[in-house]
Amino acid sequence: MSEELKELAIIGTGIAGVSASIYAKRAGLDFFLFDHQVVGGQLLLMEAVDNYPGLEVGTRGAELAEKLDLTLEVLGVKPIKKKVTKIEFVDNHVQLDSHHSKYRAKSAIIATGASFKKLGVEGEDDFLGKGVSYCAICDGFFFRDKEVVVVGGGNTAAEEALYLSNICKKVYLIHRGHRLRAIEYLQKKLSEKENIQILFNTQVRNISGKDLMEKVTIENTHHQQRRPLVVQGVFVSIGIRPSTDIFRDVVAMDDHGFILTNEEMRTSADQIWACGDCRKRPLRQLVTAASEGAIAALSVYHYIKGSYISA
Ligand SMILES: Cc1cc2nc3c(=O)[nH]c(=O)nc-3n(C[C@H](O)[C@H](O)[C@H](O)COP(=O)(O)OP(=O)(O)OC[C@H]3O[C@@H](n4cnc5c(N)ncnc54)[C@H](O)[C@@H]3O)c2cc1C
Repeated sequence: MSEELKELAIIGTGIAGVSASIYAKRAGLDFFLFDHQVVGGQLLLMEAVDNYPGLEVGTRGAELAEKLDLTLEVLGVKPIKKKVTKIEFVDNHVQLDSHHSKYRAKSAIIATGASFKKLGVEGEDDFLGKGVSYCAICDGFFFRDKEVVVVGGGNTAAEEALYLSNICKKVYLIHRGHRLRAIEYLQKKLSEKENIQILFNTQVRNISGKDLMEKVTIENTHHQQRRPLVVQGVFVSIGIRPSTDIFRDVVAMDDHGFILTNEEMRTSADQIWACGDCRKRPLRQLVTAASEGAIAALSVYHYIKGSYISA
């Protein structure tokens, strides 16, 4: 057990957790910051950062992540490189467990973000890293001049298909619905690409191969017809899942596991706040995650200093 009782524990060093750390530090709060991964969270999966005011066009996610890391360093904030595995209330304090150590704080900000949803079909886990991927930007390079499938119908799936079309020989965009959910602009770009073929009303039923994956079985859900499709890669892009399992009995969530908060990012539990992609919100972007981190930290500050007014 760490003997030290701090005012705050922040979990996650994505942009929401870093933003919370900046505001907490500036407000003079004493806090722990946890993450088992390097600083940046989902930024590390992004080729170019869009929609973030003031950034040069073409700025890579990894570049912005490095800047966030540097910001923490300049502020003198050193993240504890550990995964938080449990959170509970002990003697009126928040107690966090991580790798056989316990940490105590008067409050906590959950900024644990989200990760990719799985298809849940046979072969998906077996061929992870052997053809199956959840990130075109991270792995697309390995599929130069190959034929691949992208599964999904939203903006991210469309972006992944477009990105891969510049590397791969052929890209099948497989969508279970009869039309894409991606915005018009992306749909137009997809239609302009000769090596992208969209298969509607279609689902991947299994992934098979030997050492590496060799094909997928797809099913047209209108005619219930199955057929093999010989491809060397499957990029799953069917949405995200909040990283909130360990908080399930601690704070209120919606049916999908996104944490519910009020406008000040306060959760249903008195001493706990949440911000960024782990929280139920209308827009999952960097700019909203950053602003929510700032609001959460200032709300904690008012709580710690005794000036909190319930919303
Ligand atoms: C491919 C891709 C492209 C995107 N493009 C854009 C874009 O161009 N513009 C834009 O605005 N947005 C974009 N987004 C969305 C944007 O990246 C997210 O909204 C934002 O990064 C969310 O930040 P976050 O801090 O809430 O969570 P995350 O970035 O997910 O960070 C969460 C952090 O918490 C850590 N963590 C999780 N569980 C624990 C635990 N138990 N203990 C300790 N640490 C833990 C994780 O390791 C991670 O570092 C994109 C997302 C993806 C995946």
